[in-house]
Amino acid sequence: MSHLLELSQVNSYYGKIQALKGINLTVKEGEIVTLLGSNGAGKSTTLKTISGLVRARSGSIRFMGEDIGKLAPHEIVDRGIVHVPEGRRIFGSLTVTENLELGSFTKRKDPAFVKRTLEHVFTLFPRLKEREKQKAGTLSGGEQQMLAIGRAIMSGPKLLMLDEPSMGLAPIVVQEIMKIIKQINSEGTTILLVEQNAKAALKLAHTGYVIETGQITLHDHADKLREDDRIIKAYLANG
Ligand code: ATP
Repeated sequence: MSHLLELSQVNSYYGKIQALKGINLTVKEGEIVTLLGSNGAGKSTTLKTISGLVRARSGSIRFMGEDIGKLAPHEIVDRGIVHVPEGRRIFGSLTVTENLELGSFTKRKDPAFVKRTLEHVFTLFPRLKEREKQKAGTLSGGEQQMLAIGRAIMSGPKLLMLDEPSMGLAPIVVQEIMKIIKQINSEGTTILLVEQNAKAALKLAHTGYVIETGQITLHDHADKLREDDRIIKAYLANG
């Protein structure tokens, strides 16, 4: 598998506060990579730095061999990187279908692609199909997360970055979402998954990274991390 995404010595700041300290991280094509860590460790900042919402002050970010570190966020989306932020940010007063159509804005010149992808999203998420005309604000938390993921898929991403899709959801719904993420991956989309739910994430991922106060402290195959005492103690003990 070749490297799709490669972060090398990435440093990001909020004003004078350094949130990322020399991050090295690679995602191979076809993989599910999970980034684990506790509150405030720098997980969201890593995704925001990749998608151009936060600018790395130094280091390099390469996607399919191209340096994307200075591109604008919309140019990064055009390259095929789509970010589903924490908290979902769907448009509550629009319907399910309208939200999904907004996700395909980069492909609006290709109505056949939009139609085909919309059908595909409805196959992945039958619950969204059943609610296609419902206002998104009236969906349950799990359904809103499904909608956020579905909307991201509407642009046909090469790399889908998910920030805590399990947040605030009941275990059964988390399982459902994780199963769908696995299916999206098996259909060819590479995934970078940020999670606090280490148990669910390591079940799904091929590779995992642990970030603590802005630094990567562990990196291994997911099955190795599941058995690592440091992981069990810090992230799995109560799960
Ligand atoms: P959480 O799961 O709580 O979101 P996280 O691992 O995603 O945690 P980040 O949101 O990346 O953590 O935050 C990393 C550090 O950067 C924290 O110390 C946080 O307080 C700080 N930080 C995040 N966003 C900002 C901001 N907009 N301005 C200033 N500091 C910020």
